[in-house]
Amino acid sequence: MQSTHQDSLERFLAGLRRRNPGEHEFHQAVEEVAVNILPFVAERPQYEHKRILERMTEPDRIIIFRVCWEDDEGNIRVNRGYRIQCNNSIGPYKGGIRFHPSVNLSILKFLAFEQTFKNSLTGLPLGGGKGGSDFDPKGKSANEVMRFCQSFMTELHRHVGPDTDVPAGDIGVGSREVGYLFGQYKRLTNRFEGVLTGKALEFGGSHIRNEATGYGVVYLMENVLQRCQEELEGKTCAISGAGNVATHCAEKLIERGAKVLTLSDSSGFIYDPEGITQEKLEWVKELKNERRGRIQEYAEHFGCEFSEGRPWKVPCELAFPCATQNEMEEPDVRTLVRNGCQAVAEGANMPTTPGAIEVLREARVLHAPAKAANAGGVAVSGLEMSQNSVRIRWNREEVDEHLQRIMSEIHDQCVEFGEHGEYVDYMRGANIAGFRKVAHAMLAYGVM
Ligand code: NDP
Repeated sequence: MQSTHQDSLERFLAGLRRRNPGEHEFHQAVEEVAVNILPFVAERPQYEHKRILERMTEPDRIIIFRVCWEDDEGNIRVNRGYRIQCNNSIGPYKGGIRFHPSVNLSILKFLAFEQTFKNSLTGLPLGGGKGGSDFDPKGKSANEVMRFCQSFMTELHRHVGPDTDVPAGDIGVGSREVGYLFGQYKRLTNRFEGVLTGKALEFGGSHIRNEATGYGVVYLMENVLQRCQEELEGKTCAISGAGNVATHCAEKLIERGAKVLTLSDSSGFIYDPEGITQEKLEWVKELKNERRGRIQEYAEHFGCEFSEGRPWKVPCELAFPCATQNEMEEPDVRTLVRNGCQAVAEGANMPTTPGAIEVLREARVLHAPAKAANAGGVAVSGLEMSQNSVRIRWNREEVDEHLQRIMSEIHDQCVEFGEHGEYVDYMRGANIAGFRKVAHAMLAYGVM
C-alpha cells in the first residue's frame, strides 16, 4: 500500500513539474500537501475520479502586467506585477501582495496555493489568491513608493473587487502601501468599498488586523501547549524577522510571560539574553516602520550581540520563523532539536524546508505549519470584509475574541485529522482539513 501511494505521488509530481518547469517553490508547496492528500483521496473515489487535487494545482487565472513609474531623479523604472487567482470555490480570492526583489511566478503560485488551504481552515468564506511585484521598497523614498503603488493599482483595479478578489499586505506591503493602493483604487473607480484589507482604521480598517498574524501564531501555539498541559509563561523563544508578523508575535509572547530572545532581518539577528521587553519592542517597531533601519541598530542601542545568519543556534524551547520561505533548513532544525526545542509555529509561509520538516517529525517536535499558525491575519481580514460590507466597526476586544476562537478551531481541526496517539502531525491535519471544504465545494459545482 505504501509503495502504491509513493508511486502515485511520484507520478503526480512528475506531471506537476512537467507543466510548471523551474517553479521550485511551487513544486515544494504542492508536494507538502500531496503527500498527505493523495492517500486520503485514494480512499475516497469521489475526489479521485473528479481529479480535485490536479484541478487545485492549476490556478483559475494568472495576471501578469508591466508596472512603470518615475523615480525621484526622473528616471523611468519598469517592474513586473502579478496577481494569481488560485481558487474561488468557497469565496472571493483573498491573499496578500508582496513587494520584494525575489518575487517571481513560482513564489506567488506557492503562496496562492497555500492560501487556498489556509483560508479554508479559517472557516470563513474566502478563496485563495496572492500577488506582488519584484519592486524593492528598500531605499526608496515615500514618494517613489507612492508612485509605484499607484501605477501597480492602475492595472490591478480591473481584476479585483470586494466580491471578486480582495488583496492585503505581505512582505514589503504594510499599512503605508495599503493606503496608497486603496487611494488609487478609489480614485479610479469612484467607489469606496472593501477591496483591500489591512486598511487604516480611519478608512475602513479593522481593529487588530495589523497585529492579527503575529498574535494568531501565539494563540495557536498556546493551544498546542495546552493540549500537552503546558503553558507559554516562562518559555524561551527564538523569533526570526523584525517585520509585522515577527514584532506582533513577540508582543503577544511577552504579554503571556514568555521570554523572547531574538529578532532578525536579512542582514542577521540580535540575541538579547535578558529578553526583549515591550519597551524595547516599541523601539524596534519605530526603527522598522518609521526610520526603516536595520536590526543591527538594536544591538548597538541596547548593548547585546548581533551576528550574521539565522537565530536558530540560540537555545530555545519554542521557535517562531516569521521572516520568509525556506529560512529553517535541516542543519538549523538539528541544532534546535539538540538544544531541546519543543515546538515550532510558522509565522512565515513555508519557512521550513522538506528536510527540516522530516527532522522535526522524527524528533517528535510539535510543528504547526503556516496554513494553520499564520491564518490569523487572513481571518481578521475576513472580519474586516464583513465589517466593511455591513458598514460597522467591532471594538478591539470583539475582534480579538473572534481571532482567539478561530485559532482554537483551526487547532482542533488539525488535531482531528492529524492525531497519532500522543503526537499530532499538525501538517497532515491542516492539509486534510483545508482540502475537504474546498473539495466539497468543487464537487458541488461540477466539472469546471
Ligand atoms: P515584513 O515585510 O513586515 O517583514 C519581513 C521580515 O522578514 C523583515 O524583517 C525582513 O528583513 C525579513 N526577510 C524578508 N525576506 C528575507 C530573506 N530573504 N532573508 C531573511 N530575512 C528576510 O513582512 P511580514 O512580517 O508581513 O511577513 C513575514 C512572513 O509572514 C512572510 O512569509 C509572509 O508571507 C508571512 N505572512 C504575513 C502575513 C501578514 O499579515 N503580514 C499574513 C500571513 C503570512 P529585511 O527588512 O532585511 O528584508
